Amino acid sequence: MTRMKNRGSLVVISGFSGSGKGSVTKELIRKYGYSLSVSMTTRKPREGEVDGREYHFKTEEDFLKLIDYNGFIEYARYVDHYYGTPRQFVEDELAAGHCVLLEIEVQGAVSIKEQYPDAILIFITAPSAESLKKRLCCRGTEDSSVIEKRMHRAAAEAESIDEYQYIVINDDGKMNECVDKIHSIIEGEACRVSVNHDFVELIQRELNEEQPS
Ligand code: 5GP
Repeated sequence: MTRMKNRGSLVVISGFSGSGKGSVTKELIRKYGYSLSVSMTTRKPREGEVDGREYHFKTEEDFLKLIDYNGFIEYARYVDHYYGTPRQFVEDELAAGHCVLLEIEVQGAVSIKEQYPDAILIFITAPSAESLKKRLCCRGTEDSSVIEKRMHRAAAEAESIDEYQYIVINDDGKMNECVDKIHSIIEGEACRVSVNHDFVELIQRELNEEQPS
C-alpha cells in the first residue's frame, strides 16, 4: 500500500526481565530499520548503558515534573523506579509514517492499548521459567535480591499476557527466528483493512469514477 502515506504504527514489545527483549528490539532496528522510543527512567544506569541511548536517565524530581507537563504517553513504576515513554518523539514519528517500537512493561502496554487501539502488542518470553532464571543469573548485572524481585514480578506479569495480541518465544540460540517472526507480524498487521481506511476509500472512489456514465 504505497500510494498513500499512512500514519505509522505503534508496536509494544514486552517480556519478562531476561526474556531477551532488549536484544530482540535492537536487532529489529538494525535489520529492519524500525524506530525506537528511548524511555526515561529514574533508575541508575547499568554498566555500559549510555544516557540517551538505552534510556534518558532522570532524577525523580525531573520525572515527576514531566508527568505534570503531560510529557509521557504512558509511565509506570517498576521495581522501585519510574519508567515513561516521551510523548513528543512518538507523536512526531507516527506523524512521519514511521513504525515505532516501545519496549515497555505491562501496565504501560495496557495504557497504550487504551489510547492507541491500532497498536500492536507483542509479548516475548523465554521457553521456560528455569531458562528465564538462568538468563537473569548469567547476566551478572543484578544482585540476588533484585533477581528475586524480577522473578516475582515475572510471575505477576504472566497473569497479564492475555492483554497482548501475540506471544513470541525467544528460544535459546534462536533470536533471529524471534526477530523475523515479529517483523512478519508487523507486516501482516499493516495490511489490516482497519488501518487502511484512507486507501480503501480512495480505491472505492476511483472505481466509482471509472464507471461509464
Ligand atoms: P530495565 O530496568 O530492566 O531496563 O527495565 C525494567 C522494565 O521497565 C522492563 O520491563 C522494560 O520493558 C520496562 N520499561 C522500560 N521503559 C519503559 C517505559 O517507558 N514505560 C514502561 N511502562 N515500562 C518501561
